[in-house]
Amino acid sequence: MYNKKMYELGSHQSAIRELFEYGKKRKQEIGEQNVYDFSLGNPSVPAPSVVNKTLVKLIKEKDSCMLHGYTSAAGDYGVRKSIADYLNKTYHANVSADLMYLTVGAAASLTISLNAVLNEGDEVIVVAPFFPEYIVFIEKAKGVPVIIDSDENFLPNLVELRKKVNSKTKAIIINYPNNPTGVMIDEETLKSLCTILKECEEKYNHNIYLISDEPYRELLYNGLKYNFVTNYYDNTIVCYSFSKSLSLPGERIGYVLVKPSSNFSKDVFYAICGAGRSLGFVCAPALFQYLISECLGKTSDLSIYETNRDLLYKELTKIGYNVVKPDGAFYLFVKALEPSASDFALTARNFELLIVPSDSFGCAGYVRISYCVDTDMIKRSISAFEKLYHVYEEKK
Ligand code: PLP
Repeated sequence: MYNKKMYELGSHQSAIRELFEYGKKRKQEIGEQNVYDFSLGNPSVPAPSVVNKTLVKLIKEKDSCMLHGYTSAAGDYGVRKSIADYLNKTYHANVSADLMYLTVGAAASLTISLNAVLNEGDEVIVVAPFFPEYIVFIEKAKGVPVIIDSDENFLPNLVELRKKVNSKTKAIIINYPNNPTGVMIDEETLKSLCTILKECEEKYNHNIYLISDEPYRELLYNGLKYNFVTNYYDNTIVCYSFSKSLSLPGERIGYVLVKPSSNFSKDVFYAICGAGRSLGFVCAPALFQYLISECLGKTSDLSIYETNRDLLYKELTKIGYNVVKPDGAFYLFVKALEPSASDFALTARNFELLIVPSDSFGCAGYVRISYCVDTDMIKRSISAFEKLYHVYEEKK
């Protein structure tokens, strides 16, 4: 009658969505001000003014049929060229518009990439904790997710990586700055990871794709610089989105980029185009294609997230919580005060704190706090975090 797997996915909300819906209901019951909703990664900072100015300009200046019409399936070539030029200038990357496919956000970039490179039964390595949708996307592409743990710094455990790569391994997904930990990979670890992958490519005599999911690329604090992954590994596929950097998650715009490293790159790109076609992801929203090409290098006011990070990190560690210090993105990963993160998150609800248990990120014993929220809400929430902490202190 219908596809059972799809029914399951559609009828069961993710833990994050479920919490978000609970929060909406709770806000109606006790007032918005009284609920501390840290559930979603929805940017709280408005898009920069250049976004609206460019929209108005495009509407005034561009021919309406063109502005709202189909572009090439992979996206307007001029737009792709301007993105490639920007990346080459900013990151000294050597990428090409010819190997870029515009998409409806990072989610589509990932599904397209996975469908492009996987054959049935191929394995994809994911590093826990991870963005939960990776599993959904890999399985839909008929791949098999293979989870490896992080090390004590929440970076890929390279010893385990070496052990788990085998002749069926086709790709690894990395995501830095990371959702849910906020951790950024350092250059040395990235280089070591790439060395292992290269050695394994030689050993098994096939490509292993490094899929770099980068929606938080610009959200880096303390002046940290982004190490552009194509500069380190040949078989890299970059999945990017403007959702977070320009606060445009609802507009659904991003891209997939294949590194021009060998004769095979063009073939991989054709597979990307084929995956886009077969999934129905052709021609990303035209208006926003033209918009982003005029907003490259611009971001929302990301300093607000850094302020929120500093405030929450300082206050929670002062109370006594064990917090992973994030380098970027807008998430704080905090050790739960009891073995079950789900039970801990439920207890937190008693104090109107909506925080996501780490189980859905493939890792036990933590909660994720999304701090893309109003700074005042963070200030108001601190006493609730204190009360929550004392519940467990009293049990000792
Ligand atoms: N990858 C990660 C790590 C994310 O956190 C998200 C969204 O929160 C996505 C991909 C999907 O991004 P988009 O909204 O651009 O599809």
